[in-house]
Amino acid sequence: MNFETVSYEKLGPVARICHNRPEAANAENAQLLSELDQAVVQAANDDSIRVVIIGGKGKHFSSGHDLKGFWPKGTHPISTREGWWSMEEQYFYDYCMRIWDLPKATIAQVQGGAIAGGFMVANMCDLIVASDDAFFADPVLQSLGAPAVEVLIHPWVMSNRKAREMLFTGERLSARDALAAGMVNRVVPRERLEEETLALANKIANVPPFAMRLMKRSLNRTMDFQGLRNSLSAHFDTHEFAHATNEQKEFNSRGNLIERGKKNVA
Ligand code: ZN
Repeated sequence: MNFETVSYEKLGPVARICHNRPEAANAENAQLLSELDQAVVQAANDDSIRVVIIGGKGKHFSSGHDLKGFWPKGTHPISTREGWWSMEEQYFYDYCMRIWDLPKATIAQVQGGAIAGGFMVANMCDLIVASDDAFFADPVLQSLGAPAVEVLIHPWVMSNRKAREMLFTGERLSARDALAAGMVNRVVPRERLEEETLALANKIANVPPFAMRLMKRSLNRTMDFQGLRNSLSAHFDTHEFAHATNEQKEFNSRGNLIERGKKNVA
């Protein structure tokens, strides 16, 4: 499969899939999210692949959903609330859950910014390796006036109190803070990020694949029994309702949304 906005590298038993729009800080548009999903499915269906790394080319992991040009130029296919709901479900919710449910180990390899939708993708992985310059933020409440991103994974991967602070303030979590919060597994120097992530992936790749599949099944079910899946799908509906409120419309009519978004990776 040829991809334009993601890269797909096969490194022995490891597939490394990267956001590949470095000129746009790896902003996720419709094409990129579709290709990322196709790449993840390709890795899932390739029996020789045991571990999947998800990263980003260039300075940042990803600045999040592309607010400037989500759809190809000249197209604007969604004009109804119903259409918007279905689009967000497919591109933002279902694609993310496919990463979460992948029957293989996944590692996010993060440098620079992992913001909003990009942060959400990184947090769908089993493990996160971050470089010392990495930072994480979900500024959606502060900058878009909506309750966080579509998949509210944050309180499941750090303390509930830390997640509230981060979401209420929109402040960045540095790689070290994220390590201390238990959200990141390892912090490494920027120049060693690829090497260290790959070494970890190769170690995990030794595990027999069916045993890994069962391991993940049990780990994911543990969280499902605690209510993860129901909570995430309930939040998705709540998030969609927020997009339809007069308050959000009014909030976004003030100030420039794009300028507010740009500040996130500056
Ligand atoms: Zn949304």
